[in-house]
Amino acid sequence: MTWKKVVCPFLCLLVLCGCSGNSLFTNHPNTQQEIGNPQHELFYEDHYIVNVSYPKIDIEEVDAQVQKEIDNIKEAYLQEVASYQEERKAELNVDYQSYVVDDRYISIKFDVFESIQQNKESILTLVYDNEEKAFVSFDDVFEDGAIDEIAKKAVRYFNVTYPNECNSTNFAVASAPLARNYNLFVLRKDRVVFYFQEGTLFDYSVQYEVAVDEIKDFISFEGEVVATFVPYNDILNEPVKQIDPNQPMVALTFDDGPTPEYTNAILDALKENNASATFFVLGSRASNYPEILQRMILEGNEIGNHTYSHKQLTALSKANIEEEITHTQETIHDATNRYPTVIRPPYGSKNDTVLQSAGNKKIVTWSLDTEDWRSKNAKTIVDKVVNEVEDGSIILMHDLYASSADAAIILISKLREMGYQLVTVSELHAYGKAPIGKIL
Ligand code: ZN
Repeated sequence: MTWKKVVCPFLCLLVLCGCSGNSLFTNHPNTQQEIGNPQHELFYEDHYIVNVSYPKIDIEEVDAQVQKEIDNIKEAYLQEVASYQEERKAELNVDYQSYVVDDRYISIKFDVFESIQQNKESILTLVYDNEEKAFVSFDDVFEDGAIDEIAKKAVRYFNVTYPNECNSTNFAVASAPLARNYNLFVLRKDRVVFYFQEGTLFDYSVQYEVAVDEIKDFISFEGEVVATFVPYNDILNEPVKQIDPNQPMVALTFDDGPTPEYTNAILDALKENNASATFFVLGSRASNYPEILQRMILEGNEIGNHTYSHKQLTALSKANIEEEITHTQETIHDATNRYPTVIRPPYGSKNDTVLQSAGNKKIVTWSLDTEDWRSKNAKTIVDKVVNEVEDGSIILMHDLYASSADAAIILISKLREMGYQLVTVSELHAYGKAPIGKIL
């Protein structure tokens, strides 16, 4: 995927969209999700996982269409995994970006990633005209003659960027000036982005961006100059902790969040008990909750990198692994002004490529798996930890479920009573208490 190129320059900046009066179009803290309330669905089964994010826009027609698309994707996947029994979990990941232009055009782009026997990526875009109250396609948005101009520019761009790959028949067919070739697009304030699925122009998906300014004769809206500012300079006054190296200590770790109601409840309990934990956040979620990330740091917790979209890294190319890691590092840095030094790969899956891609960051797995996603029962989770905990345990939980938050709240005070100091994984490592092989 090439979209990192586009995202990076904007990651550390917030967009001021300058809209007013319409609650649909208020400023949103995430520059890649300008509109809609993010909805997350993440569930694990024995042989597969579903991890789906999509926006709720509060425009009935758009929400219904989004729901329909998501339902179709899920249904097709669930049918496919029904007979899948292999050890490695099958995955469905759906992530999105959303943009608004002129208080009128709403664009949503979905990245769909399926890994069952093989990996499959696809892109889906929806563009809605909130004035005409209709979904629009290329011919609705662009004037006559636009297709020739855009195709010419796109072909020139690809010939420069991928000089050795543009001589194929596939390229010629899929880049020809026909609206159907350019129908996957989003409208942004200052540019239009066209997407090409894997297997169309090239074996992999690519995108072409054109500035609104360059094609203003052919479109019905005016480009905007996008103003930016840096939102968060520094976090001061981090708490100084008293850790006794001679007393037992354990590290509670929470994966897959943040989830506001559960994560904040866990943070409350940690604070009350003078305890810390490590939160291995997903970049895709973290980008929506910078204030929760800030709170984690201010209260002495550690934030770890759990990748951007929860794909199994061992099934990805090195470039894609690095993108998953880097994008999340930047997201966390944007919110907290610091980069995580620990990574937990989804499912704990790692190989040499993952280790290389981690650079100087440590890969952290766990020594005590609560299996909270399986039992979804606070008592079962608490009992398992109380029975199995020992000095140096790294305890795996998920701040995704009410039962996990309930269990964590009980465990935080119980473990303190049992004489354990609750520290971060990096602290556990610094005091030489981490179980061998669990922090690499
Ligand atoms: Zn996870």
